[in-house]
Amino acid sequence: MVQGRVLLLNGHTWEPLSVITIPRAINLVLAEKAIVVEQSGEFLRTVRDKFPIPSVIALRTYVNVPRRQAHWSRRGVLVRDSFTCIYCGIQPGQLMRGKMLTKSDFTVDHVIPRSRGGRDTWTNTACACYACNHRKGDRLPHEAGMKMAWEPKTPRTSYLVVAVGSGNDTWRRYIEY
Ligand SMILES: [Zn+2]
Repeated sequence: MVQGRVLLLNGHTWEPLSVITIPRAINLVLAEKAIVVEQSGEFLRTVRDKFPIPSVIALRTYVNVPRRQAHWSRRGVLVRDSFTCIYCGIQPGQLMRGKMLTKSDFTVDHVIPRSRGGRDTWTNTACACYACNHRKGDRLPHEAGMKMAWEPKTPRTSYLVVAVGSGNDTWRRYIEY
């Protein structure tokens, strides 16, 4: 089956702009407004023609779009961290004390706890498994003797693009943040 969406990148910078339909993407390429960056390997057949369907395209010129700050959400934090615990690295599908973890076993941890003034921001929150979240409690990581495996960052791109594209490997390297 043809995957129904194409990732559109900005000109020059190749920042992700949006996710568009296949006909719109092909129109942009045929109108020479965009170039093909990655092919999907699929074809769109019409009565007369056969067009290779792109997976990623980029505009030929740079358009100045005000960068939208990705809106913070619990779901966004979990997606950003790929449901990986920032403290122990465990992921859904792995075993913890004989129990197979699912996405619902992962929570949003506040690095600086809310009870101590920590806020709902991208840099103060990360995905943690329930065991690590419980162990950390109302402490800072170093007070609990816990280490963060990475530093939580504000996503560079709209979370919509990241969330939609997270299942598409050819998109992944264009939407890293
Ligand atoms: Zn953990």
